[in-house]
Amino acid sequence: MYDIAKIREDFPILSREVYGKPLIYLDNGATTQKPRCVVDSIVEEYYSVNSNVHRGVHFLSQQATNLHEASRETVRKFINARSTSEIIFTRGTTESINLVASSFTERFMKPGDEVIVSVMEHHSNIVSWQLQAERKGIVLKVIPMNDCGELLLDEYEKLFSERTKLVSVAQVSNVLGTINPVKEMIATAHAHGVPFLVDGAQSIPHMKVDVQDLDADFFVFSGHKVYGPTGVGVLYGKENLLNELPPYQGGGEMIQNVSFEKTTFNELPFKFEAGTPDYIGTTSLAKALDYVSAIGMDEIAAYEHELTVYAMQRMKEIPGMRIFGEAEHKGGVISFLVGNIHHFDMGTLLDRLGIAVRTGHHCAEPLMTRLGITGTVRASLGLYTTKEEIDALVAGIKRVSMMFG
Ligand code: PLP
Repeated sequence: MYDIAKIREDFPILSREVYGKPLIYLDNGATTQKPRCVVDSIVEEYYSVNSNVHRGVHFLSQQATNLHEASRETVRKFINARSTSEIIFTRGTTESINLVASSFTERFMKPGDEVIVSVMEHHSNIVSWQLQAERKGIVLKVIPMNDCGELLLDEYEKLFSERTKLVSVAQVSNVLGTINPVKEMIATAHAHGVPFLVDGAQSIPHMKVDVQDLDADFFVFSGHKVYGPTGVGVLYGKENLLNELPPYQGGGEMIQNVSFEKTTFNELPFKFEAGTPDYIGTTSLAKALDYVSAIGMDEIAAYEHELTVYAMQRMKEIPGMRIFGEAEHKGGVISFLVGNIHHFDMGTLLDRLGIAVRTGHHCAEPLMTRLGITGTVRASLGLYTTKEEIDALVAGIKRVSMMFG
């Protein structure tokens, strides 16, 4: 039994008002709200444990280190990695992708070697590779999609060549909501002897992820999109691959011995964690993962699926409605435009009704070019979204549409 009323009580922000109206928060693709247990964890750790990790012999430092390393185990379990050596804490998805782009290119790629991405990637999974294209002469190949927003798997297969060194694709599109068949795509890449990075920023909050079942070589996500804190994220990588990669940043913690003649590096995962980690953040990220696990990822997925089907059906009642992203397998992200109303105007007026949506290109300008538009309005659902909120969104869009005649 999915107890939505009880779940909503865990999120204090959901009971606030904006412009005198109850907040309807539909910007979960950008960031999610935090349950009380996540915020409490931050406050409690600062008040009673705070001390730098890994370095101290004293009680507090050991306690903070234990919490930090226990969080690594919580993440390992959550995505079913084999070992905590495979869990690298980063600042988020963006940093995780940049780490792989930088270290993987340095170790495995020569000028002219190729990385395959898709047309629906977030800028972080495009620009990180373009930087390497400029610096190291690597080449980007792009998987196209159909008008429903589904990747063309035949075209994908044709992109492989002897020079393909990595594929990097989002499991769920942050604009179209498309759930890409990454397990199948990984198998294709592996048949060509090519490793695969899954951008899990938009999948991790909404579905069960099992990196061993997917056979993902890398899997990345951000804490703040899965009801956790900002500033902390994860890079999962297969141990043998991570062992091959050179360090990303230099500093404390990532070394074994330092001298001016020769420095040796620490073992995994510390080799990739230079400097003081956000150990307060990792503890509260673990609280967030425990929170969603207690509700159940399958239960969350089922609830959100029903809500998405309902939202899509209700949105289509609206005259002049154009929805971008009608894949057969679709998560709770609904991008739309109505008639000639500019996305910015729609978003601003919905905001006055207390409805928080996102407008613009959603950090996916190449996708906007593919769709032939400059931006959309995006409503993105979370585990606490209700049917009543969808109804309010539909009523709000109708009201704004009437204002524009
Ligand atoms: N990838 C996808 C698919 C995203 O939706 C986002 C954020 O919206 C990112 C990457 C970047 O995440 P972050 O800004 O948390 O690093």
